[in-house]
Amino acid sequence: DTIGRNLDRAVAAFPEREALVDVASGRRWTYAELGADIDRLARALLGRGVARGDRVGIWAVNCPEWVLVQYATARIGAIMVNINPAYRSHELAYVLRQSGISVLCASQRHKTSDYRALVDEVRGDCPGLRAVHYIGDASWDALLAAAEGVPDEALAHREAALSCDDPVNIQYTSGTTGFPKGATLSHHNILNNGWFVGESLGYTEADRICIPVPFYHCFGMVMGNLAATSHGACMVIPAPSFDPDATLAAVAAERCTSLYGVPTMFIAELDHPGFTGHDLSSLRTGIMAGSPCPVEVMERVVAEMNMAGVAICYGMTETSPVSTQTRRDDDLERRTGTVGRALPHIEVKIVDPVSGVTLPRGEAGELCTRGYSVMLGYWGEPERTAEVIDPGRWMHTGDLAVMRPDGFVRIVGRIKDMIIRGGENISPREIEEFLHRHPRIADVQVVGVPEPRYGEEILACVVPRDPSDPPTLDEVTAFCDQRLAHYKIPRRLEIVDAFPMTVSGKVRKVELRERYGAR
Ligand code: ATP
Ligand code: MG
Repeated sequence: DTIGRNLDRAVAAFPEREALVDVASGRRWTYAELGADIDRLARALLGRGVARGDRVGIWAVNCPEWVLVQYATARIGAIMVNINPAYRSHELAYVLRQSGISVLCASQRHKTSDYRALVDEVRGDCPGLRAVHYIGDASWDALLAAAEGVPDEALAHREAALSCDDPVNIQYTSGTTGFPKGATLSHHNILNNGWFVGESLGYTEADRICIPVPFYHCFGMVMGNLAATSHGACMVIPAPSFDPDATLAAVAAERCTSLYGVPTMFIAELDHPGFTGHDLSSLRTGIMAGSPCPVEVMERVVAEMNMAGVAICYGMTETSPVSTQTRRDDDLERRTGTVGRALPHIEVKIVDPVSGVTLPRGEAGELCTRGYSVMLGYWGEPERTAEVIDPGRWMHTGDLAVMRPDGFVRIVGRIKDMIIRGGENISPREIEEFLHRHPRIADVQVVGVPEPRYGEEILACVVPRDPSDPPTLDEVTAFCDQRLAHYKIPRRLEIVDAFPMTVSGKVRKVELRERYGAR
């Protein structure tokens, strides 16, 4: 189905139920109200001449208008382009031009970001950009005013022409390993994925989902928004950008049943001084995803946050995003130590990255996936698309994984992050997982840095639990001794306050390698 028609069903079935809550501004929408506001914005975009297939950019921190733009563009067959709110002028200009955005919806400012100034800086280089509307500003009201005189029939007529296979979204990848790529996704791709994620969490119209992850990323807009609206559940926006205290407060005040986060967000919440002051008894489930989820952190989330049903999802922007997920009835070891099994109608195989031959269970190789979830392609980049999607429609993820004999998948790391030390292939993930158990280490990243004798040497970057008393290299070495093979023991240690992160919450290992590799 199309996203618009799917939303209509929730509006018809649950008109009076709450659909969207913005904690920061106190604004609330029922499904009937949300449907009406989406239709008004959709008619406004029609009034502004947005044609089927036109690209409409959304460059904003989390706010209700983000959600309105997501559904209004889908409703009129436009292609929404998610733009990372952390981008600055160079990246903004790239995305505006690369995807050919004609209308841009943007935040005005947030913290130190002055979006208006950045748009002004690049506008001259982006001749295709016809109009910019700032959320909460007169230019936004002017956009909405364009709905006047556009009849409902015009909207219905446009919608009737759309197909679920139409592209609806260009989502740029996180840029963890390099420059972001624009994954083109159809209604069919992302609506189904959101729905299946919601199904495996057992969502109903009674669920209230706290979404502190950015909407610009698939975690927020698919696993959050589309999973919610396809089940009549409520989306709760705790804050415009991640804030551990605001997130915990929103869960308590809004009686949320589900909470999302990347591992670093859950760590920040669990370690927050005010953690015990919030009533989290309404939580029953949630999702941790986006990067390796340490067993330790998962166990704490289950035990301390009342999230017995928390799931781990694994996926990538290019696959809508989720490929595998743990389920409620999996036992604790599988739910904390693996990324689960393939979602329905999705295939997963592990291949030798060089020969492409499928490997037996238990052996590490590249994870490939196939099914409805695989993107249409990278926008305007057929060669790059052909590098990752093979003629059999298998998506080659670049992630190293093992399928255990029981069918559960473990992500071992990224092929690009593998450390090769003296001819030995080492997965940083395994060492990180081990070091997480050290009582004085709050968070850790392991990278390979150039070294003349072995080619690469292992560096551990550590965020200490107590910044005034960080662990020393000798202590870390002693902790690993006799527990890890000698070649996996870090030879260098850097103490850091925090890691360089993408907005979607992933550690940019490239940056750590650049920062410490030169020495
Ligand atoms: P880029 O492709 O631009 O370098 P990116 O791959 O981080 O950035 P995303 O599509 O946001 O962009 O992230 C997908 C990647 O995130 C996966 O390929 C995988 O490496 C990692 N990932 C996602 N979920 C998990 C998980 N549960 N465990 C381990 N890794 C995960
Ligand atoms: Mg990627």
